[in-house]
Amino acid sequence: MLLETLHPFPCCRRLIRCYTKHADSNFKLQSYNTHVLLSSIMDFAEGELKPLAEEIDKKHLYPKEQINKMGELGLMGIAVPENIGGTGLDYLAYAIAMEEISRGCASAGVIMSAHNSLYLGPIEKYGSKDQREKYITPFTTGNKIGCFALSEPGNGSDAGAASTTAKSNESNYIINGTKSWITNAYESDAIVLFATTDKSRKHKGISAFIVDKATKGLSLGKKESKLGIRGSSTCSLIFEDCKLPKENILGEPGMGFKIAMATLDGGRIGIAAQALGIAQASLDCAVEYAAKRQAFGNAIIKLQAIQQKIADMALKLESSRLLTWRAAVLKDNNKLYTKEAAMAKLSASETSTFCAHQCIQILGGMGYVTDMPAERHYRDARITEIYEGTSEIQRLIIATNIIKEYDFN
Ligand SMILES: Cc1cc2nc3c(=O)[nH]c(=O)nc-3n(C[C@H](O)[C@H](O)[C@H](O)COP(=O)(O)OP(=O)(O)OC[C@H]3O[C@@H](n4cnc5c(N)ncnc54)[C@H](O)[C@@H]3O)c2cc1C
Repeated sequence: MLLETLHPFPCCRRLIRCYTKHADSNFKLQSYNTHVLLSSIMDFAEGELKPLAEEIDKKHLYPKEQINKMGELGLMGIAVPENIGGTGLDYLAYAIAMEEISRGCASAGVIMSAHNSLYLGPIEKYGSKDQREKYITPFTTGNKIGCFALSEPGNGSDAGAASTTAKSNESNYIINGTKSWITNAYESDAIVLFATTDKSRKHKGISAFIVDKATKGLSLGKKESKLGIRGSSTCSLIFEDCKLPKENILGEPGMGFKIAMATLDGGRIGIAAQALGIAQASLDCAVEYAAKRQAFGNAIIKLQAIQQKIADMALKLESSRLLTWRAAVLKDNNKLYTKEAAMAKLSASETSTFCAHQCIQILGGMGYVTDMPAERHYRDARITEIYEGTSEIQRLIIATNIIKEYDFN
């Protein structure tokens, strides 16, 4: 009750009601302080991201100032332990925060997601003490960001077929190859990189490395011109005889594929939450417009055909949110969550494109023009079905895990 009176925005009240409703179930947030932090995030997303999202999209602007503020709010190291500079929250809090940030601006959402899940996540889990100090602590304020370089021009879904090589000599690894589609690559200061140390062992010969962006022999390819999430940079990284000190290997040689797959499990919770934020923004936009738009003598929200669409959007959104929170809670409790994260990502991303589509339909002509955010939500939503594993790949992961559960032996 106290929390509800703190915040003027209807969406904040909605979310706080949502958390409070689940407070006694499995979806328990860590503490009262977590509630307070999350309500500041909602205020920030509503007050500072939402009004800028159109400009960020139109000008393809990296929202540097806003990312710095997100660092001040504790969002750029949200699940990193406090003793190494992070905020020390759990993945459920991360998922909720990610939804809110993406509801305000989907570009800010993916910048935050790639940095937290794909860059900080694996270093926190597999890094040595020195690596954690050097590559995590200064990266929790929003000033420095990181990226994750797995995909290549010749292989995205088939990540085990990496052709970037890391040849070792006495004291160094020499990296050659090209990584493509890398989120945050343009602004990043360091990279979690995957390269083959032993080609004969196929995916078991892939190793993970941490690379300083300033390393000689590393250059940036062109920035991609994208359909949506235009405030986040996507570009290739080109490695030409790029010399890395031996101590920059992350984990053991040959562990890279395992690290990449485990990292993507966590990353999918972030992308599911990003998709939820876009879906929620679409629902908000549709309902607010339908309540005002008059046709045949009444607001169109009174029409049952419109109400059916609102019901379908809300149902898919809430089901996907529960799947996302379930995956986050399983991760927080050190339980297996590969299948659940894939289900959450698949459901939330398809919900996001569905809700953005219905939002445009409810707005009619106004949905199709850039005066309203509906068309941006539609463009932003689409990528959530592609990156960190396409919907086809999520279905494969889910089916493989289900078949294993039947235990035919
Ligand atoms: C904006 C953006 C940001 C990205 N950010 C990053 C990043 O930060 N780091 C990074 O490493 N990568 C990143 N990616 C790459 C992204 O993860 C890949 O694009 C994605 O995994 C798909 O790979 P692909 O594009 O090579 O498609 P392909 O693998 O060529 O797939 C093409 C089609 O074939 C289908 N397909 C492939 N294999 C199968 C199968 N076994 N069964 C059924 N269908 C299949 C796919 O689902 C898809 O429909 C990003 C991509 C984009 C567009």
